[in-house]
Amino acid sequence: MKLKQVTFLASVLALAACGVGKQEGEVRFSGFAPVNSKDKDVREVRTFCPGCGEPIAVDTARCPNKRCKTEMSWRADYRCPSCKGSGYCSACSEMEQAKGDCYNCKGQGVLIFQGQSPECPNCKGTKKCPICKGSMKCDFCDGTGKVAKDIVKAKSAKFASGDVNELPPSDPRLPAEKKDDAPKEEPKKDAAPPETKKE
Ligand SMILES: [Zn+2]
Ligand SMILES: [Zn+2]
Ligand SMILES: [Zn+2]
Ligand SMILES: [Zn+2]
Repeated sequence: MKLKQVTFLASVLALAACGVGKQEGEVRFSGFAPVNSKDKDVREVRTFCPGCGEPIAVDTARCPNKRCKTEMSWRADYRCPSCKGSGYCSACSEMEQAKGDCYNCKGQGVLIFQGQSPECPNCKGTKKCPICKGSMKCDFCDGTGKVAKDIVKAKSAKFASGDVNELPPSDPRLPAEKKDDAPKEEPKKDAAPPETKKE
């Protein structure tokens, strides 16, 4: 009896794993979270067809590429790439901001030196981590550790529509005037009159 149940379960799992024969849309995250107020947010989300590898919008059911036509499914959410699913603010963990306090001023809001106390440039006087505002939650997933499909969709929309200059177009022509041997710089023996004249 028990054995039968187990077999049944196993086959259900196997079915679920392969879905209805659909591949999953490919989601690629790149970049790192900023750790201070000067860092630029370079995190990007890009989505591709699992069949032909072309950029494709989230929720596309079938690749429009005639030679591909791969049917695909999209997950409801993804593990947050910024915090690796932990939900914690990357800046706080990287800069060891234990209580969400700004590392630069140690939560003072000002820097104290030589009898002066200018406003801390990292937190702008707020005393808190400029990335999470002191909540210690990952700003990418709001501390949930997951990124919902809609967010992936919104963040990748620009890329998927091709409205982005990806890599700079590589120049197919390699250096045309590639010199094949040693530097052929003209010996500059007559360039400047030698200092022969003496007064
Ligand atoms: Zn495709
Ligand atoms: Zn996160
Ligand atoms: Zn933080
Ligand atoms: Zn500060």
